[in-house]
Amino acid sequence: ETLRVELGERSYDIVVGAGLIKDAGKWIAPVLARPRVVIVTDENVAAHYLAPLTKSLKDASIRVDAITLPAGEQSKSFAQFEKLCESILALGIERSTTLIALGGGVMGDLVGFAAASILRGLAFIQVPTTLLSQVDSSVGGKTGINTAHGKNLVGAFYQPKLVLADTATLNTLDRRQLLAGYSEVVKYGLIDSPDFYEWLENHAQALIDGDMDKRRHAVLTSCAAKARVVAEDEREGGKRALLNLGHTFGHALEAETGYGDALLHGEAVSIGTVMAFDLSQRLGLCPGQDFGRMLAHFDALKLPTDLRRLNAGDWTVDRLMAHMSHDKKVEDGKLTFILANRIGQAFISRDVQNKDVRELLDTWLKNK
Ligand code: NAD
Ligand code: ZN
Repeated sequence: ETLRVELGERSYDIVVGAGLIKDAGKWIAPVLARPRVVIVTDENVAAHYLAPLTKSLKDASIRVDAITLPAGEQSKSFAQFEKLCESILALGIERSTTLIALGGGVMGDLVGFAAASILRGLAFIQVPTTLLSQVDSSVGGKTGINTAHGKNLVGAFYQPKLVLADTATLNTLDRRQLLAGYSEVVKYGLIDSPDFYEWLENHAQALIDGDMDKRRHAVLTSCAAKARVVAEDEREGGKRALLNLGHTFGHALEAETGYGDALLHGEAVSIGTVMAFDLSQRLGLCPGQDFGRMLAHFDALKLPTDLRRLNAGDWTVDRLMAHMSHDKKVEDGKLTFILANRIGQAFISRDVQNKDVRELLDTWLKNK
């Protein structure tokens, strides 16, 4: 199935389906300026999908070069960015060459930023292979790398020419990564779609356990939601910020755990989303019942919900507050929170008092 992100002359298609990589040439050839691509992938993904993708492109008479990088968040660094740009230039590419990001959000963010930068802009295509990247990071054009001052602080808005989400690739993804990606799926339900949320309550377990049909439906619905928001607010002047539900808290937790395997992005978002609903409830904005309902759903799936399980022993409210105030979303020193009036109805708030946030963090850090 095909969805479209409507952005005028920067519009593009998102194709979702099982087995798309085998037929990639068919989808990719029509969007290329010239039949030449450079695939950039990480070592884990290369082992499964580089050969079939390359074959399909070559069968479509496309010239293919490939670059394989180490896996993991560490690749979103200045050092890897520099190496990648030099390796791509060393291939003697031209302006008409297209880059293909094959992998999860790390490849998408890094390769997208390289595409935005090399020769002041090469076309690029996203072939996302994690649940997180299929439902979130591959759509919308946010690209970038991490700095010593924090995650994603250097980057560009740069839209791909095509997103090819092959849901069959999720079969080789481990359960922990699937669950982490699921927190970005359920986000769309929690923000503005109570029906999708209810569908997820009924089918998320099957989706996690491997039901291909449920996976396809969840990826399609999530991409459609993201495409709608991005079309309305490409550069996050307003409504796009709703997609940051759980992320203000989440980013503080990621900062505290060092952006590594200790706590995946999606895991931080999962805990952060619980905290955002808890804050909404404490402020009297959201019924306690809705908080209970979302918490029960997260717990049933065994998503992480409690920061005290993170070896949070020496964490302090001050440290977490400091991380939050370094977030990109801070303006005039004011934190932005995505709060909820209920499940399926989130809103952007700049009026949360620091003392209320501190109180919330304090309760979550203490053993109840
Ligand atoms: P990732 O890219 O690191 O992938 C997770 C792991 O799974 C890696 O080890 C990878 O090698 C492996 N892998 C990927 N696909 C696989 C497959 N099909 N089978 C087996 N193994 C596979 O992580 P991610 O969760 O996809 O992305 C996280 C990144 O995305 C973060 O850097 C985050 O900041 C970024 N992000 C960006 C946006 C955006 O809008 N640009 C949105 C959300 C997250
Ligand atoms: Zn996220």
